[in-house]
Amino acid sequence: MGQLNPAQSEAVGTLGGPLLVLAGAGTGKTRVITFRVANLIKHGTAADRILAVTFTNKAAMEMQERISGQLKLPKRVRRGQPAPARPQIGTFHSHCVQILKRWTGELGYPDRFTIYDRSDAESVARTVLREIRVAESTLSPSDFLNIVSRWKNAGVRPENADSAATSDQEHIAASGFRRYQRALKLQAAFDFDDLLVFAEQLLVENPKVRLAEAGRYDHVLVDEYQDTNGCQYRIIKALAQGHRNLCVVGDDDQSIYGWRGAEVRHILNFRQDWPEAKVVRLEDNYRSTDAILTMSKRLRVDKTVSPGDFAILFRTNEQPRPFEMELRKRKVPYMITGSQSFFDRKEVRDLLAYLRWIDSPDDELALLRVINVPPRGMGAGSVDKLLKQAVATSSSVWKVMHDEVFSATLPTAAQGGIASLKELQSRYKAQFDGHLSAHQDPSQVPSMAEVLIKLIDDLKYREEIQRLYAEPEEAAMRIGSLESVLNSIAQYEESAAEPTLDDFLASIVLSGREYGSGKDKQQGLNAVSLMTYHSAKGLEFPIVYMIGMEEGVLPHRRSISGEIDSVDEERRLCYVGVTRAQDELALSLPQSRFKWGKPRPTYPSRFLYELTGQGDHPNRIKSIQAAAQEAKKSGRTKR
Ligand code: ATP
Ligand code: MG
Repeated sequence: MGQLNPAQSEAVGTLGGPLLVLAGAGTGKTRVITFRVANLIKHGTAADRILAVTFTNKAAMEMQERISGQLKLPKRVRRGQPAPARPQIGTFHSHCVQILKRWTGELGYPDRFTIYDRSDAESVARTVLREIRVAESTLSPSDFLNIVSRWKNAGVRPENADSAATSDQEHIAASGFRRYQRALKLQAAFDFDDLLVFAEQLLVENPKVRLAEAGRYDHVLVDEYQDTNGCQYRIIKALAQGHRNLCVVGDDDQSIYGWRGAEVRHILNFRQDWPEAKVVRLEDNYRSTDAILTMSKRLRVDKTVSPGDFAILFRTNEQPRPFEMELRKRKVPYMITGSQSFFDRKEVRDLLAYLRWIDSPDDELALLRVINVPPRGMGAGSVDKLLKQAVATSSSVWKVMHDEVFSATLPTAAQGGIASLKELQSRYKAQFDGHLSAHQDPSQVPSMAEVLIKLIDDLKYREEIQRLYAEPEEAAMRIGSLESVLNSIAQYEESAAEPTLDDFLASIVLSGREYGSGKDKQQGLNAVSLMTYHSAKGLEFPIVYMIGMEEGVLPHRRSISGEIDSVDEERRLCYVGVTRAQDELALSLPQSRFKWGKPRPTYPSRFLYELTGQGDHPNRIKSIQAAAQEAKKSGRTKR
């Protein structure tokens, strides 16, 4: 720690104005950001007037830790105690959540809101499409969401969607778009894209918000700038415009989010927007050995290694399965970042739905999920009536529950159910918020984990699980998942500066978004990492395996069949993979792979030839031709 090379020192020592650090993988760009934040604080900038934006939650946590280490900030603070000022470090999404929290009123949203993940969004989309009588075979909820997401990232609003539509499917989507947004608003929910879209809208269109938000910071720093999309670009511009203390770092060779609307020109045009910008280039790679950089020879590792030193990188979700099986068989600990399975378990979703609903009772999906779990007299008939009334009065189910006249028309059992739901919500809301009754000692505020334990007991949720799953092993496993939720809330409380329930819920849903369950090396898990190239960005490992180096996998079939024209983006993905390795890198491919139930020969990836300097090898040409044929064929047999 402490050392920087001259180019890095120059960047770190630049205390103001626009600054662009453009450099290759492993050259210390992220290190420059961390050191620079610490240096700004040493030179008198108040810590909480610095905003650093990273691309993943994992990267944000790592940076928070490194900076806290450098500044010797205390790791934890008691609930209810004032936290020392810290730099704001987070992802674009998490920062937008903070902005929205402060300004939802300006959008006509209630001040408590939920974030809907993809499966929540799909169920809203399904209802909307049903309402406008679109069959799933015409436009599936998932295709609908893809179209809407593309529009949102391109800045298309519901009212302009119809003129942006170019196909039949898009015209249908356009007619559902407005309804979809209305449904989300009624339920006080945002989907992932909305977080960026509405934050941008507030910053760009509402001078009061822009002044206040931009005024919170004196410095803005952005890591992985090559992957910002238009929306993110405008958010950063709005925040930095006034003070112009904007430092961005990135590597155009690692731009891998073109499919999500990222535009590499933002980094390449930085000097047009900020003409007085200083540009620093870093040349030395500190991460990888020369052999990896030149890809010329294999290395021997003679120091002892542990599971946490290994990463297996893959392109598609089917790839890790055989590796998982093998690792399990050999009892090698591993973790997958690339599957959300934990958060898809019924009991986990139930429990999180309880927390979501307690925090934001208009969250209809959460409420409907818990409304009669465990049973409390809310039968299907009553729920149906509530829903119809909500639609008829354009309000939320929760508000309808507060309509005394309407409630009186429901069966007595349901009236009892409503009363107990209201009581439960307000009691636990107060407890999670850490409210004390007058005679309580402030040091006695129960932790959120303790409140959650009480909630599980109150709901008799363990008994419910035992009732649902007669098999003792199954029940034990499901009770085990409740415990994992508890552990994750406890872990969250340990690490957050000022823990709150809605912040915890946002962090869970946002970490699910990037396929991570938030458990990683720094939390003490010593396990082999299995992850996608996308989630590996910015990370490093002593030993890296890139599996499935074959045409159709990397580069992905879709990129070579012409469905999306992006072999270049696949090449950058390969580059990201190679540059994760510190000591040893292995590239492999199977000799054959099952396709449509039959083993088929594989063709070595064109990138293997390129990496080893044989870009014009005759086998490479053959493998590209064969792959293109396969890709076309499978494109035709699709559906
Ligand atoms: P990527 O493009 O993959 O995000 P990066 O440019 O952000 O890479 P870092 O992660 O900051 O690179 O640095 C790569 C590794 O090199 C880290 O382990 C870092 O601590 C180390 N490193 C960087 N600069 C130096 C230095 N001057 N002295 C010693 N180690 C360094
Ligand atoms: Mg980095």
